Amino acid sequence: MIRQELLKNIRKVEPYVPGEQPREKAVKLNTNENPYPPSPEVRKVLDTIDTDDFRLYPDPASGELVKALSGYHNVGEDQIFAGVGSDDVLALCFLTFFNSGRPVLFPDITYSFYKVWAQLYRIPYVCPKLDGEFRIVKEDYCRENGGIIFPNPNAPTAIYEELDFVEYILSRNRDSIVIVDEAYVDFAGRSATELIGRYDNLIVTQTFSKSRSLAGMRIGYAVSNPGLIRCLNDVKYSFNSYTMSRAALACGAAAVRDKEYFEENIRKIKETREWAAAELKELGFVMTDSRANFLFVRHPEHDAGKLFDQLRAEDIYVRHWNEERIGQYLRITVGTEDEMHALTDALKKLVTDSRQ
Ligand code: PMP
Repeated sequence: MIRQELLKNIRKVEPYVPGEQPREKAVKLNTNENPYPPSPEVRKVLDTIDTDDFRLYPDPASGELVKALSGYHNVGEDQIFAGVGSDDVLALCFLTFFNSGRPVLFPDITYSFYKVWAQLYRIPYVCPKLDGEFRIVKEDYCRENGGIIFPNPNAPTAIYEELDFVEYILSRNRDSIVIVDEAYVDFAGRSATELIGRYDNLIVTQTFSKSRSLAGMRIGYAVSNPGLIRCLNDVKYSFNSYTMSRAALACGAAAVRDKEYFEENIRKIKETREWAAAELKELGFVMTDSRANFLFVRHPEHDAGKLFDQLRAEDIYVRHWNEERIGQYLRITVGTEDEMHALTDALKKLVTDSRQ
């Protein structure tokens, strides 16, 4: 117990709740990790690392990784900011850019960390509702605000909006920073990085945790114009200059350079996504049009909370939120073909058993 005298000066927050990390033999479809290993180039680069160098601090500018990413995105090195997963990058973005005192806008159903950062930094916020089909209503983002953030594809809905939608919001908010969180864009379509030259209020964030199979290395980044990237760096250097380890920088750069492996990995996941979606539809599930590496599904005749528990009892982990509007949905990460077979077999039994 903390005494009241101490407690009154402590910052209290309702923390983000990450998905479970179950024991090894489980079929783990609950945190949108990539089911395939990272590029073999990552292993090679790790083998060449001289651990004696670990006594030295890493490059605070993350030079090697920034260089690889600037080549990949065809932008200047001064247009990339790297961090410890996109969570780190996004948290710094909230701290750096959302200081007007006016409410920041993000959807009511979205990545739940946005609300946590807003509360942590005491940033006011307003959450316009997604429509009945779980789409972001772009007109709701045309009111006074202190910044805008949304994921594209959105999570957990998996719905992707085309670039004209992003541009609509950007062009009507020229004096606000708009952050497009593209954690899942590699499974979807065109990236808003294409718009950076035209909109000086745009920041795009991406991650190595999904499409590059490196969630365990914690690598994320932002792409924007040099002015905004400098602001992010100034705040980072005022907080913790050596955020990324030598190992993460080397692995990240190696993964970016292996474009062929990256593309093949994504192709497989998209193929499995379409297969699993069709199988689940056969079983009576309804779902959004997923453009991410996860499906957002419900069954009209089966309670999602119950299905979640039943799957868990069979060591199959998916995600369920006991929340308004999405309480009857399950979010299912696209795993390997074998994992998705295990899932659909288990669901087939659960759905048909209860019909008998
Ligand atoms: N944005 C969204 C929409 C996410 O779902 C996630 C993954 N939980 C992240 C950002 C953060 O990913 P990471 O910190 O692993 O880069």
